[in-house]
Amino acid sequence: MQLSTRLIHNDHDTDPSSGALGVPLIQTSTFDQSACFADPADGRVPRYDYARSGNPTRSALEEIIAGLEGGECGYAFGSGIAAVSSALGIFSAGDHIVAAEDIYGGSYRILNTFFKRWGLELTAADASRPEQIRAAIKPNTRAVYLETPSNPLLKITDLKACIAVAKEAGLLSIVDNTFMTPYLQRPIEFGADIVLHSATKFLGGHSDVISGLAVTATKELGKRLYAVQNGFGAVPGPWDVWLVIRGIKTLKVRLDAQQAAAQFLSRRLREHPHVDAVYYPGLEDHPGKAVHDAQASGAGAVFSFKTKTVEQALGFLRRTKLAAAAVSLGGVETIASYPVRMSHASIPRPERERLGITDTLIRISPGLEDPEDLLEDFEQALA
Ligand SMILES: *Cc1c(COP(=O)(O)O)cnc(C)c1O
Repeated sequence: MQLSTRLIHNDHDTDPSSGALGVPLIQTSTFDQSACFADPADGRVPRYDYARSGNPTRSALEEIIAGLEGGECGYAFGSGIAAVSSALGIFSAGDHIVAAEDIYGGSYRILNTFFKRWGLELTAADASRPEQIRAAIKPNTRAVYLETPSNPLLKITDLKACIAVAKEAGLLSIVDNTFMTPYLQRPIEFGADIVLHSATKFLGGHSDVISGLAVTATKELGKRLYAVQNGFGAVPGPWDVWLVIRGIKTLKVRLDAQQAAAQFLSRRLREHPHVDAVYYPGLEDHPGKAVHDAQASGAGAVFSFKTKTVEQALGFLRRTKLAAAAVSLGGVETIASYPVRMSHASIPRPERERLGITDTLIRISPGLEDPEDLLEDFEQALA
């Protein structure tokens, strides 16, 4: 079955105990284990004992995301960053990670502060050039950490090529797939070992929940990650999990519409006299387009642009009526974010400038408004 069908029909489309079309929201901290004691000869071990270790609502989401990504095991977390941190928690002091240099700002920060203090070494490399990844590998390197398209400049990483470099050196590949979702890109098909998501974005899709997910390609890695999920305990509550399960059901229609809007707006903004550059892998002249098209089935629904002056960028954020000036992306409402003061504020200015994250840069995540209305609003905001 196509992925769009599997968003609706999977092992969790009907609750076997009630026939409900949906997953029951099981709000509990603990589970009755008396069955273990009733008849020792019976030896039954209930699947659930304590809700940090597992909860049926959470298990449903974990199985759904594992199925969609084509992995063996799924894990849900209290945020995308909790998923990132828990995945990094499988490593030890003295291990070294090679990460793409333009990964999500919060991931960069946690690697560069918390994990550095705990002895995990980091080298940031330009992952759009796989040879740079190879050059950064050291004897104690354990993993390559990738994200494509990157944020906020939508640079493309060749997943196959970079994962091949990692495999050659016996390293794990970890891919943050938040921007694409499994509907458009499935890194495990290219050999990735762990796929991460901020489910806060497209998977949840309604700007109403903070959540994270991880999928492992193998059961063995799943065991290692489960030990961190259970031991470190950055788990989500069942209500948040339930919202993500519901969001996933409409992923295809939302992303199709938002992608069409991104395609339309990026083309039209490029012609605007106050716009200096537009970054979107759906544009014919995007430098990574061929690589992106080979590994994803769509350009996604996030783009960014640079105005010619800082005043124009700030004026746009001040005057737009339809876009919320906010962090985050992938919701049903359009969001315009200003990376230098929001998602990338924690990256030192010289480093930001080197990466091209200037104070004229605005990132757009179109929502489900009419694209013509959005264009009209953007044009008045830029004027
Ligand atoms: C938002 C985001 C994260 C962090 O997720 P939270 O849910 O905000 O903790 C990680 N990676 C990417 C690519 C993101 O966009």
